[in-house]
Amino acid sequence: MTLVSMKDMLLQALKGNYAVGQFNLNNLEFTQAILQAAQEEQAPVILGVSEAYIPYMGGLPCIAGMVKALIEHYGITVPVALHLDHGSTYEVCIRALHAGFTSVMIDASHHSLEFNIDVTQRVTQAAHVIGATVEAELGRITGREDDLVVDDADGMYAVSEDCVALVNATGIDCLAPALGSVHGPYRGQPKLGFERMEEIQKLTGLPLVLHGGSGLPDAEIRRAIELGTSKINVNTDNQMACTATIRRFLNENPQAYDPRNYLIPAREAIMASVQAKIRLFGSSGKAGGS
Ligand SMILES: [Zn+2]
Repeated sequence: MTLVSMKDMLLQALKGNYAVGQFNLNNLEFTQAILQAAQEEQAPVILGVSEAYIPYMGGLPCIAGMVKALIEHYGITVPVALHLDHGSTYEVCIRALHAGFTSVMIDASHHSLEFNIDVTQRVTQAAHVIGATVEAELGRITGREDDLVVDDADGMYAVSEDCVALVNATGIDCLAPALGSVHGPYRGQPKLGFERMEEIQKLTGLPLVLHGGSGLPDAEIRRAIELGTSKINVNTDNQMACTATIRRFLNENPQAYDPRNYLIPAREAIMASVQAKIRLFGSSGKAGGS
């Protein structure tokens, strides 16, 4: 199957009361594991690429080419969207779309609302011309954004009126309101703003996105889905599964030198981690819609 945008998969998820997982690409093995996990679960899937990983993985055309080639090689039939995660500028969003990405996030959440609306509007206009989807953010999701550590503060929760203004002015396809979730490992108990989540979903009518989906209790994930969260981003849990497997193997086999000896079990661990999330999110078996 060729790459698709997030539009249909998120609208179906919103209607069917489940969420589609966004799993971030870190390298070749992550891409293989995530695609095969989605196929095994017969689930729609979103492959996320954050800006810091673009040079790490050899540039946008390399990433898009790798994804397309693997879809063909493995005979993947479930819907797959290739999505730029936390694009910081208009330019990087356009470059991703030009390289073949089918979806972009423009994250101008650390700028003024006016600037956020302006740049999100321009990205959305361009993306919609070619049938690609756009996600935008309001408020600040704390923790680790790529290599930047954003510190916690209560005032960083998204404001409902701002969300309505952004959605109405831009025509975005989904919205990530910051409501207390955190990138990277959680320190202490997370406090998700469920009331605000419900209000924002009702006021905007859009599928909502939950960033920082790693390490949240299952009950909070289910609650978020009930309130209209249709896309949940996961990376840290998969990274931890991968690295723990490699660490264990190398500790037990200090003489090993062939990377396949630890990368194959690492890939299997990532695949198992992704499949568990897909089941938790309720998107297993939803490849054909709800
Ligand atoms: Zn994020």
